[in-house]
Amino acid sequence: MTSFFNNVLRQIDEISILLENEYIDKKTFKKIISEIKKPQRIIKKTLTITSDNGKKISFQSFRAQHNNALGPFKGGIRFHLNVNEDEVKALSTLMSFKCSLAGIPYGGSKGGIKVDVSRFSQKELKKLSKAYAKSFSKYIGERIDVPAPDINTNAQIMAWMLEEYEKSVGYKSPATFTGKPIELGGSLGRNEATGRCGVFVLKEFAKKERLVPSKTKIAVQGFGNVGFWFSKFAKDSGFKVIAISDSSGAILNEKGLDPEKLNDYKREFGSFKEIAENKGFKFISNEDILELPVDILVPAALEAVINKDNAEKIKAKVILEMANGPTTFEAEETLLKNKKEILPDILCNSGGVTASYFEWAQNLQGISWSEKKVNEELKKYIVNAFNSVYSLAKKKKFTFRVAANYLSLKRIVDAIILRGFES
Ligand code: NAD
Repeated sequence: MTSFFNNVLRQIDEISILLENEYIDKKTFKKIISEIKKPQRIIKKTLTITSDNGKKISFQSFRAQHNNALGPFKGGIRFHLNVNEDEVKALSTLMSFKCSLAGIPYGGSKGGIKVDVSRFSQKELKKLSKAYAKSFSKYIGERIDVPAPDINTNAQIMAWMLEEYEKSVGYKSPATFTGKPIELGGSLGRNEATGRCGVFVLKEFAKKERLVPSKTKIAVQGFGNVGFWFSKFAKDSGFKVIAISDSSGAILNEKGLDPEKLNDYKREFGSFKEIAENKGFKFISNEDILELPVDILVPAALEAVINKDNAEKIKAKVILEMANGPTTFEAEETLLKNKKEILPDILCNSGGVTASYFEWAQNLQGISWSEKKVNEELKKYIVNAFNSVYSLAKKKKFTFRVAANYLSLKRIVDAIILRGFES
């Protein structure tokens, strides 16, 4: 099977063939592309902590820093058993693309610890977080590389890491980590930002394509941070969210669902399956929600859920990707053949990193913005990115994904040229 990083390289090759026409000096362009195909630095460390029962345990940990031509590196730290070098290389490259498309002054990075968090206590996770921050303190920093939460990491973990980092360098530096608790300089509006920006994309797309919100049926897979806020804001904007799922399955109501009420029920009953049983909702499987005859399908949970096994069965006209990498390469070919449109992840879910950029900018200036200001600024950035992708796609007859990747790669190449890449 092709590795995740090789798939990313395949995308770079595909786009660079199209992009080459924009550059007279082909030799320099090719050199720059080969540079972009390698992260600038990959740091690997073994972290050792003392467990609650007094034994020493060691963990593999990583940080990949892809390219900093546009600004300091920026990317999450995940705690997961699947963390490996190939994965951080791929994800750091995708972060460079996402930041570039969003128009924020960062390059991409990604880090992680190979750990099964369910086997460790909070005390042990605190030691592990601090060990990571100490070990990597030389390589991160507010002007160097700015980490954030990712899978199985959160505001508390950022707070522990910040404390340890500041201890190592000997001064306060809240801008070194984003996604912090509000009390330590976190930004208002960060929590809702990814879902909120996904709905800004939805609304702009609906305007361009003359979709009437009340007649536009939407199905959302996933009801975590992203799925919940996306569904809520979509409903508040008048769209008809007819199906939503969590890991137990999906609830369906052709007349439309109320995400806030479902959230209350989820707290009361635990899972969508239990809600359906207790409240009499129609319940379908997580595979079936993807195949519903809706206008817009929103994968907002896991990667690769739209794949060669179900691509032919997808009936939605548009896939708005809120999860990272929900559509596989093979599935995309089938969807495009069937005239489906895909609004890509690097555009739709960039609200999170954009809000992180606002947090960093506020910390550097020692100020804090109101939630209203954060939301207004988020809208400006995402609408701008959407319009650039939409108009390039129409002008050059590209898919939205190709247009998004083209714009991202072009900005990185241009930054490298401006900095005086020697041919
Ligand atoms: P989360 O952990 O809060 O929620 C994940 C949701 O997926 C939960 O509702 C869970 O029940 C559901 N789920 C798990 N397994 C499932 C399955 N088999 N079928 C259907 N649903 C299932 O995660 P999140 O922060 O909402 O992130 C969701 C996706 O969005 C991920 O791909 C993440 O990388 C991406 N993303 C998140 C952010 C952010 O700001 N949180 C930003 C960019 C991208």
